[in-house]
Amino acid sequence: MALTWRVHATLSRSAANGPGTRFVVWAQGCTLGCAGCFNPETHGAGGDVRTVADVAREALATSGIDGVTVSGGEPLEQPDALREFCALVRPSGLGIVVLTGFARAEIEANPGLSAAVEMADMVIAGRYNARLRLGTGLRGSSNKEYWAVTERYLPDDFAGIPESEVVISADGTIAVTGMHAWGDR
Ligand code: SF4
Repeated sequence: MALTWRVHATLSRSAANGPGTRFVVWAQGCTLGCAGCFNPETHGAGGDVRTVADVAREALATSGIDGVTVSGGEPLEQPDALREFCALVRPSGLGIVVLTGFARAEIEANPGLSAAVEMADMVIAGRYNARLRLGTGLRGSSNKEYWAVTERYLPDDFAGIPESEVVISADGTIAVTGMHAWGDR
């Protein structure tokens, strides 16, 4: 049976979710409850139930991107889907960035979570802390950790990423994405 994934949204091309131009997947569902979370719409049940293969096909069919970013919601609350997505994207040579509320130590202590990120290039890990909010980059708050799983990206590669971006679709839908803004407006 095909592995499925609860997905809040995807975006073909983003400049605010990692180095270069990236395909973004926001997983649906998060129980970590960081105060001041900027993505409350992604916490609950629901979302689109899609096969991982379908989401990967969408990413791989997108031209002109440098990589993919998986955010949330909490991607590691659906670890099998995240691992499978990374496995399907990896052979293409696209870079893989994962944003998670789990700390690196929590991930490394859990074989299932470790397996989910073993094919990522960079994991940005740790609970968001609004009191330690940063205004730039993708970490969100200074307690969050850049975990370079491979040598593809350095923390400096994330320094100049805009805090948010506005994406206007062909149908007129306007979405605001990035570290401190998300949602259809
Ligand atoms: S910041 Fe991330 S990990 Fe924390 S509650 Fe929000 S979606 Fe969940």
